[in-house]
Amino acid sequence: MDTARADHDRRPLSLLARRLSIYSLILWITGFVLASEADAASVRSQNFIVHGPDQTVIRSVAQKAEDLRHKIAMAWLGKPLPAWPKPCPIQLKLTGGEAGGVTSFSFDQGRVTDQEMNLEGSADRIINSALPHEITHTVFAWHFGAPMPRWADEGACMLSEDHRELARQDEIINGLVDRKGHVPLGTLFTMEEYPKDLLGFYGQGYSVSRFLIEIGGRDRFLKFVGDGTKIGWDSATRRHYNLPDSKELDRAWRSWHRVVASRRAPGHLHPESTLAAADREKRNGRNNAGQPTIRAQSDDSLRR
Ligand SMILES: [Zn+2]
Repeated sequence: MDTARADHDRRPLSLLARRLSIYSLILWITGFVLASEADAASVRSQNFIVHGPDQTVIRSVAQKAEDLRHKIAMAWLGKPLPAWPKPCPIQLKLTGGEAGGVTSFSFDQGRVTDQEMNLEGSADRIINSALPHEITHTVFAWHFGAPMPRWADEGACMLSEDHRELARQDEIINGLVDRKGHVPLGTLFTMEEYPKDLLGFYGQGYSVSRFLIEIGGRDRFLKFVGDGTKIGWDSATRRHYNLPDSKELDRAWRSWHRVVASRRAPGHLHPESTLAAADREKRNGRNNAGQPTIRAQSDDSLRR
């Protein structure tokens, strides 16, 4: 997506607050609550409130969202997230096609103060692709309490998607490297907004995240990303990957891609896929910076 859409996705907090106060009127029954109107329904779970046109689907999405929130936090942080102080609204739009999503966060003083998710597509693709991707954004947002660098945020979120999407990303990065359309890692690491070549940006972010996780695991990856924004990417590369600078890391990534990644058959079961991971690493350390910030993720439907 482009920057303009990101700006469009920034919603005034007063509007969010008004919407949340409406949601709070919905009553709880144990577990899930169903509140239906003529053409829409809502289901509330502990940490989500899902709005959409089909009660069966939104109930499935609420249950899956809770399940993914737990599994993805365990895979990345080694422990579950605490219950959120208020449920994350999910707006669901059912179509027949591929799924996409966007999640917007507000941050203040190292904490998430508001979040909102929009998902669109077929129920199957939402549940297997867009929902795990967007839930991973929420896990990272609550872990860092601040916007995560774009390449790492999108790249690592891709690793939660199903094998169909991972295979598609493999094809994209192979094509990108073949035509030398990738950017140096020193540039990728500092990109604050989504570039014009959104597909390439997602593909390279995905591949570099896979590479770093494969050589060092998830915990090291999160520390590298947290330190990179504070002490610089060359220093973070030395500290966490024992290479002199991001140029050498770039060289290592390209060698890895040439030798390892590009030879994997499409649809290969990636051992570094978040939800397939057997090894769970413990988190320590927390990024704690921040002036009030509002951050919208890319409209991920645009990369389809
Ligand atoms: Zn995303």
